[in-house]
Amino acid sequence: MIYNFSAGPAMLPPEVLQQAAQEMSDWRGCGISVMEMSHRSSHYDQIHQQALADFRTLLNVPANYRVLFMQGGGLGQNAIVPLNLCGKQRDAIVDVVVSGGWSAKSAQEAHAYARVNVVAQPEKFTVFPDCPSERFSTNAAYAHVCTNETVHGVEVLIEDARARGAWGLAKEGVVVADMSSHILSRPIDFTQYGVIFAGAQKNIGCAGLTIVVVRDDLLDRARADCPSAFHWQTVAAQNSLYNTPPTYAIYIAGLVFQWLLKQGGVAAMAARNQVKAQLLYDTIDASALYFSSVDPQFRSRMNVPFFLRNDNLNAAFLDAAKEAGLLSLKGHKSLGGMRASIYNAMPIEGVRALVEMMRHFEQRFF
Ligand code: PMP
Repeated sequence: MIYNFSAGPAMLPPEVLQQAAQEMSDWRGCGISVMEMSHRSSHYDQIHQQALADFRTLLNVPANYRVLFMQGGGLGQNAIVPLNLCGKQRDAIVDVVVSGGWSAKSAQEAHAYARVNVVAQPEKFTVFPDCPSERFSTNAAYAHVCTNETVHGVEVLIEDARARGAWGLAKEGVVVADMSSHILSRPIDFTQYGVIFAGAQKNIGCAGLTIVVVRDDLLDRARADCPSAFHWQTVAAQNSLYNTPPTYAIYIAGLVFQWLLKQGGVAAMAARNQVKAQLLYDTIDASALYFSSVDPQFRSRMNVPFFLRNDNLNAAFLDAAKEAGLLSLKGHKSLGGMRASIYNAMPIEGVRALVEMMRHFEQRFF
């Protein structure tokens, strides 16, 4: 059995891959592949509408939010967001919480479109920083946050930070959240967010699709130079069929959504994800060899970076993991060490196999 701990593109549920394989050259008796269908055909329309509807059901998306199927990935949205939200002011200000590598990239990209105010940036990316009200601009177009830092393994929901008193932005402030690496892993309170975006290649499906959820009243704030294919209002008005959408990636996402519904939905996934993450963090914390640098309060349930106290064992660790069928555990190049990404599709058996291998390795080599 192979378990793939890649941060993305990442493991997909085997049932989804089997169904896609069966339907590869002939989608449900229509004679052609999904890849070959016109995006204006009635067959494709079924796939498209079902995927949109299932996504809404899974996350209980309120009626005043539009779900958009776009392209360009998470990094694309770093430019697309300011292009869509900074049209109302001459010298727009964007607030950014820099809590890891991905929000740092968002801040960097926003400089081309707005004045950037860094609300908070911890010295080390091991916590989600406190963001008191006085750190926010009074007239920012929006405040950007990455709610799960895929590289540094720091996770937060604005609703939780607000409840703790660690998020001082008034409720009327527009929060834009990059949820690329934990969307669909737990329920979210949409009323806390104006915009949510996520690339598909982690918890949604395969690369090529980016999902954007936008509150209705934010659709008319685009700059005049926003490209039409990236203009949320235009895309929303055409139900994500303004131009050719990434049809095959949407089809795969649709299969994943059906799989999630069969698993009991996002609340059931959240419970499973908590158990998986706990098992891995408990193993790390109980060990003399492994350690995690992230403050336990903010440890991601999806991306678990960890280190070996003896760096010289890294290569042997990766070899032993590979031998046990545990792939892609090498940490991001900026951090080193290891990282286990345990998205929805990773079964508890995969995490059990990992912790067993980690314990054996420690006994043998340390
Ligand atoms: N944001 C986050 C949180 C990510 O994890 C990633 C990709 N790992 C990105 C943005 C960039 O996404 P893409 O490669 O799809 O542009």
